Amino acid sequence: MNQSQNHDESSLNKLDPNWRNDALDLGLDYGMQTIAVRAGQHRTDEGEHSEPIFTTSSYVYRSAADAAAHFDGTKTGNVYSRHTNPSVRTFERRLAALENGERAVATASGMGAILTMCLAYLKAGDHLLAANQLFGSSIGLFNNYMAKFGVEVSYVDCFDNEAWANAVQPNTKVIYCESPSNPLAQICDIGYLSQLCKANDILLVVDNCFATPALQRPLDLGADVVIHSATKYLDGQGRVLGGALVGSDELMQEAFTVVRSGGISMSPFNAWVFTKGLETLKLRMQAHCQNANQVAEFLVNHPNVSTVHFSGLSDHSAHELATRQHHMKNGYGAIMGFEVKASDSRDTKEAAWHVIDSTQMVSITNNLGDAKTTITHPATTTHFRLTAEARAEAGVKDGLIRLSVGLEDVEDIIKDLARGLDSL
Ligand SMILES: *Cc1c(COP(=O)(O)O)cnc(C)c1O
Repeated sequence: MNQSQNHDESSLNKLDPNWRNDALDLGLDYGMQTIAVRAGQHRTDEGEHSEPIFTTSSYVYRSAADAAAHFDGTKTGNVYSRHTNPSVRTFERRLAALENGERAVATASGMGAILTMCLAYLKAGDHLLAANQLFGSSIGLFNNYMAKFGVEVSYVDCFDNEAWANAVQPNTKVIYCESPSNPLAQICDIGYLSQLCKANDILLVVDNCFATPALQRPLDLGADVVIHSATKYLDGQGRVLGGALVGSDELMQEAFTVVRSGGISMSPFNAWVFTKGLETLKLRMQAHCQNANQVAEFLVNHPNVSTVHFSGLSDHSAHELATRQHHMKNGYGAIMGFEVKASDSRDTKEAAWHVIDSTQMVSITNNLGDAKTTITHPATTTHFRLTAEARAEAGVKDGLIRLSVGLEDVEDIIKDLARGLDSL
C-alpha cells in the first residue's frame, strides 16, 4: 500500500488537459495578478467557468482492480478528502504559485499549519529558535506542547541579527519568525536569517500572514517554508478558518504526510473561499496598506499616542528593511500597534480601554486581516494567557492597542479612533 502517491494530481478524475487555462499553472511566466485569478484551476468536463466546491469525503473507483491500484501505488488519484480534494488542491496550487513555491499544503487553520511544521521538522532533542514577537497561540504551542515532547524552545529579539546568530545551538533545527510580527509589526531580516540558516543546516520558517504574497515572498528571500493563517488576508472577509505551508516538494511531502495522518486537513468549502479570496488579494492589500499609511500618520501626530509600531513610518527602525523586503510600493501591511499615554485619571491600560470603548464603528475583536477594521488590547486578550515575563518579552505593554486597518473610508476609521484619543 503506497498512499504517499495520492498527492500526485496528475490523474485527478475527469481532467481534460485540452481545456484552455488548465495549463496555467506553477512555473509559467505570468504576472502575479494573472496567477491570482487563474492558477491552479482544473476544469471538469462540465465546463464550469468558476471553480466548483467538491463537497465529497471520498471517491469511487471504476472497479475493484482500479481501487487496488489506487492503494498499491500503481495509480494515483483521490482516495479520501483527508488526503486530497480537488477544491483544496486548487487553493494549494494557486497559493504555491503566488508564493513562488513548488507546492503548498493546506491545513484546517493557521495553528494547524504551525503544528504541522513542528511535527514535520522537529523531534525530541531538537532546538526551535523563535522570534520573541509571535502570534500568542504560536508561543503557547511552542512552550506548552513542543516542550512536552522534548523540543527545546528559546526566543530572540526578532530585529537583532547578532542575537539570532548567538542563539544558534548545535541542535537548532528550525528558526521561526513572523515578518511583520504580531502585535508590534516588527520586521525580521529574512535574507540575513536565510544565510544564518544555510550556514548551520537549519530550516527557516516564516509566517507570512501579515504581509501575504502580495507584499512579500519569503521563499524568494531565502526562507525554506512559508506559513499562512489563511483565516486572515487570504480570505480577507473573516468568514472561515484555514492555513497553509508552502515550500519545496520535498519539505511539503513531509508536511502533507503529517496533515493526512493527523487529520489537520482543510475543508473543501473553506478552500473554495480562499481560492476566490486570492483573486482579489493584491487589490485588497493595496487598499489596506494605503489606509494603514494614513492611519499611522494620524496616530503618530496625536499628542496622546506615545509610540506607533508600524514600519511604514519613515523614522521606524525597520523602515528601510521593510521597504527592501516588500515588493509592493508603499506596502507595509495594515496591522499596527500603538501605545497610548496615561492621563490624570487613567493609567495606560485604562487609557487603552477608553480608546477601544469609544469607537462606534471599528470592531472590538481579536481577529485581524479583515475588510472591517478591528481593534484589540493584546495584554488582556490575545496575549493574556502568557506569563507576565513572556508578555514583556513580546513587548506587549498595558497601553498597547493593536489595530488591523480595514477597507472602510479612511476618514471614518480616523474619526472613530480620534473619539477616544481626543477625550483621554
Ligand atoms: C491568526 C494567526 C495565526 C493562527 O491562525 P489561525 O487560523 O487562527 O489558526 C498564526 N499566525 C499569525 C501571524 C496569525 O495572525
